[in-house]
Amino acid sequence: MSPQATQTKAPTQTRNHKLDRHTIKSPAPRPEQSRTEERQAGKRRQMLEGTPSTFRFRDQFPNGINWVTTGWMTVMHVGAVAALWYVSWQAMVAFFILHYITACWGITLGYHRLLTHGSMVVSRPVRYFFSLCGTLSAEGSPLFWVANHRKHHVLSDHEGDPHSPNQGFWWSHMLWFQPKDTAEQELELFKRWAPDMYNDPVQRFLHKTFILYPILLGFGLFAIGQWAVGGLGISFVLWGLCARMVVCYHCTWFVNSATHVWGYRNYESTDRSRNLWWVALLSYGEGWHNNHHAHQRLAKHGHRWYEIDVTYRTIWVLEKLGLATNVQDKLPKLGPLADGPAKLN
Ligand SMILES: [Zn+2]
Ligand SMILES: [Zn+2]
Repeated sequence: MSPQATQTKAPTQTRNHKLDRHTIKSPAPRPEQSRTEERQAGKRRQMLEGTPSTFRFRDQFPNGINWVTTGWMTVMHVGAVAALWYVSWQAMVAFFILHYITACWGITLGYHRLLTHGSMVVSRPVRYFFSLCGTLSAEGSPLFWVANHRKHHVLSDHEGDPHSPNQGFWWSHMLWFQPKDTAEQELELFKRWAPDMYNDPVQRFLHKTFILYPILLGFGLFAIGQWAVGGLGISFVLWGLCARMVVCYHCTWFVNSATHVWGYRNYESTDRSRNLWWVALLSYGEGWHNNHHAHQRLAKHGHRWYEIDVTYRTIWVLEKLGLATNVQDKLPKLGPLADGPAKLN
């Protein structure tokens, strides 16, 4: 091989984003390329091995704890445990129907694929309907959810990611939203990461009132259980509200925590995202998280035949009914798996 041929080959190797260490240690680069490559390798190693950088847990609460959020979560978890003493088949039916409406229609289809990523186009009434379904999960307003999730995609597993397991599994799972933010910090977050949502007066209204809707649903559930069904008011509230929300919380949180730690990868991506079958089953397809990080706008998160994606099937039905158009579902060509099973941290 001529010297010229050697020189033209080296930059090709440095542009290769393979994650394995053999590629990171590619042979005989020029000095400036070597430094760049070392920095990239360091960042990559930090992402894959979960090394916290400057993160210190106690520094994350400069304004103290958000006691409203923490109190709400505590009450809902106590209610979910109490539900075990108030089991009735009628309340279980309410649990499953409401879980699908609020978690699938509301969170995975509405908040995530529609509002955050624009994976399809729907009319304004349909858009607000799914936004309202999402508020019934009490995971925050659509504006709050979308802003944080877009931030997560841009900074994923890097400094500034709202919920990376690089800062610890429990931080990414359920601690990251416990610190209190000031009104100024919140406004800055919305304007920077979700200006389209912030400029919509209906979304600002939903942001101010989002907690009222699950509370109203709670009263409605009590009335139906107590008077329409007969004496099952408490059972309906504990299953239809508390237990349903707590199950939905942890399923959503597993997408932030577990699917950045365990599973396999179809694609190389600049984060730790992975595909994890049991999270996908629990979260209507959101557990195919590496697919999603690699191709964020796609409405379809399951890219292999066995990657079941209930949310996409629901979008498919919406499209057939004429309620959704421009559905982003053209899959990229899939190669072999990007790497083997993840290391456990
Ligand atoms: Zn996303
Ligand atoms: Zn992620």
